[in-house]
Parts: sequence; C-alpha cells; structure tokens
Amino acid sequence: MIDIAKIRTDFPILSRQVYGKPLVYFDNGATTQKPRCVVESIADEYYSVNANVHRGVHFLSQQATELHESSRETVRRFINARSITEIIFTRGTTESINLLASSFGEAFCSEGDEIIISVMEHHSNIVPWQMLAARKGVTLKVIPMNDKGELLLDEYESLFSEKTKLVSVTHVSNVLGTINPVKEMIATAHAHGVPALIDGAQSVPHIQVDVQDLDADFYAFSGHKIYGPTGVGILYGKGQYLDQLPPYQGGGEMIQTVSFEKTVFNELPFKFEAGTPDYIGTTALAKALDYVSAIGMESIAAYEHELTTYATERLRTIEGMRIIGEAERKGSVISFLVQDIHPFDMGTLLDRLGIAVRTGHHCAQPLMIRLGIEGTVRASFAFYNTKEEIDSMVTAIERVRKMF
Ligand code: PLP
Repeated sequence: MIDIAKIRTDFPILSRQVYGKPLVYFDNGATTQKPRCVVESIADEYYSVNANVHRGVHFLSQQATELHESSRETVRRFINARSITEIIFTRGTTESINLLASSFGEAFCSEGDEIIISVMEHHSNIVPWQMLAARKGVTLKVIPMNDKGELLLDEYESLFSEKTKLVSVTHVSNVLGTINPVKEMIATAHAHGVPALIDGAQSVPHIQVDVQDLDADFYAFSGHKIYGPTGVGILYGKGQYLDQLPPYQGGGEMIQTVSFEKTVFNELPFKFEAGTPDYIGTTALAKALDYVSAIGMESIAAYEHELTTYATERLRTIEGMRIIGEAERKGSVISFLVQDIHPFDMGTLLDRLGIAVRTGHHCAQPLMIRLGIEGTVRASFAFYNTKEEIDSMVTAIERVRKMF
C-alpha cells in the first residue's frame, strides 16, 4: 500500500495554491514534480562535489565521476539492461531518438529503405525519421489504429518488406493512454529480422520496464517525466547494435585519441556522449529512480490504475463527456472533450479553479488528424495524486460545462 499523505510531503509544490485554490496537478504526462531528495541532490552536489567528470586526477573530479557512473548503474538496474555500456545519457527522449535516427540512419539506411512507426507517435518519434527520410530517401510506413485507439497488429505485420530497417513505436500513447503490446510487436519485428526502438517517455514512469524481457533493441526515456531533473534522458541500446553505429556528435569525451590525421573514437557508451555531460542531473536522476524503486513500480502501477479507473468512471457521469482513447489496456492518461467546449477554454477555466491539465494536440498532430479533432483536454496522473483531487476536477468540469 502506498502512503499518499506521507509521499505528498516529499513534494513541496503539491501543497501550494494557485489563484487561491489548492493546486491539483494533473499534467504529469508533460513533466512530473520533484521530490525533495532530487532537488537536494542537485544543491548538495553543486555545493560539495562539483567538478568536471572523467578528466580530472583530483579528488572532486573523481568523486563526481563516481557519482555519474554509479547513476549509470542505477539506470541499468532500473530497466534491467545487461551492461552499463548499453546506457547512454542524453538530454531526453527527443535527443535519444534523434541520436538513433542520425547514427542508425547513417549506418544502416539507404534510398528506398523503410521505417515503420505508428499513427499515435509523439512528434519526437516522427520528425527525426522524416528528417532522415529527406536526407536518405527513406520511406515511413505508419501502423493504423482502430477507433478505440489500439494499433492494428495485422496491418502492422503487413507493413514489413525486405526493405524494412527499423520499427519505432511508443510504449504508451501520451494522448490516448494506450499501452501498446510492444513485446509482441518487437517479436514480430525480430521475426522479420528488423530491430525495434521503443519510445518509453510515458511508460518508464508508470510501469515496470525490463528491456531484456521486452527484448527491445533500443529504448528511450526522459528523466523529467520520472521525477528526475530536466535535461537528462536515456537511450538504451543493445551492445551489438551500438558497437556498429557511428558517433552522433563529435567533441571531447567521445574520443580515445585525436590527431589532425585521425581520430579514434572512445568505447561504449562514451562514443555517444560528446562534451561535458549533465553529471549533476544524472546523479539527481538516480535519486529519482531510487525514490520510485523504494515505493515499488508495481505498487505505483496498481495505485495509478486505480486512480485512472476511478477518474474514468467519474468523468463518464458528466453530460456531453467524450473520452478519447478507450483501449483495453491504458496507462494513467485520460484525454477528453466535453460537448463542443474548446479544449483551450476548458483548460483555461479549469486552471482558474486550481486544476492543471494540458490542452491541445499534445505534439501528436497526425493522431489528431486521424481522430478528426483539433485537440483534447488531457489529465495525466502520478502516484502522488488522489481520488479527492479527481473529485475536484469533476466538480470543476461540471462548473465549466454549466457556464457554456
Ligand atoms: N514521446 C512521448 C510519448 C512523449 O509523451 C514525449 C513528451 O511528452 C516525448 C516523446 C518527448 O519527451 P522530451 O520532451 O522529454 O524529450
């Protein structure tokens, strides 16, 4: 059982007010709030350890390096990667996907090759592939979905050809909440001899992810969506692939030797980490992962499922409510529209009542086109949210509805 009252005291921001109302923070899909241990880790490291990593013989540099590298081990353990050499620090999911599109595209893609994505991808899992398409003449193929927001697996299977080079799909949709059957989808890709990248931005914070069990070839996520700091993210990649990929950016850290004639690149994972890393951020990310691990990802998933089920039932009682995304398996994201009230109006008025939700296309415009809508209102939950907060949102939506 999760002790919510105690957990909430770890997140000072949750007890603040906005417009004289208690804050109800339901924008966790965009970013999560930070527990004290994460914020304190940042201050502590700057105050007492700060020095650039990897390069120094002096005490502070070695201590900072130890913290940074032990954070890599914390990440490895958290997603059950085989080796720390498979954990690349990036700025976030977006950079992780761009890194792969650039390096994988360079090494493995040429004119006429195909990459499979899905209709429910975030722009960060569409645009890097479009940029690759423009550079290399690669074609994108898109897995369609049904009206409930579930990917059509038969259609997926039929998209493969001998030209398919990569599958890149989201684990959990940031709009519909759909939990895609990625283990099965990866197995399908492998049956065609194709590797798969999973966008884990919306899954890692909410469900236990085991990259070996999924057999994912690449897996990307963002620290700030899992209670860690902004500016740090992860690209996991199987060593067998990472070894074959060229570096993403050039500079310090990613080299072994440089002369004007020839540069020898560093070993994994440093080959992909040019320049000074956000070592303060990686330590803080490890604190966030330790924090959620202490609560337990299974408990978190069970509690958030309970919250989402409760919210769905309560929202359905509202007249004119339309929930967008009714997949069988859903994460803690609910998108909705009420009557013909514009999402922006709903979001703005809810904000005045203390409820922070997100509105708009959620960086998934192709999905909005598929749904035939401009945008939605999105409430996304974290383990520090409560049923009372959901009640407050439902009451606030009723108030807004009556105003129209
Ligand atoms: N992928 C999904 C499914 C997301 O929801 C998001 C952010 O909302 C991203 C990728 C991009 O994450 P970031 O902005 O942290 O790089």
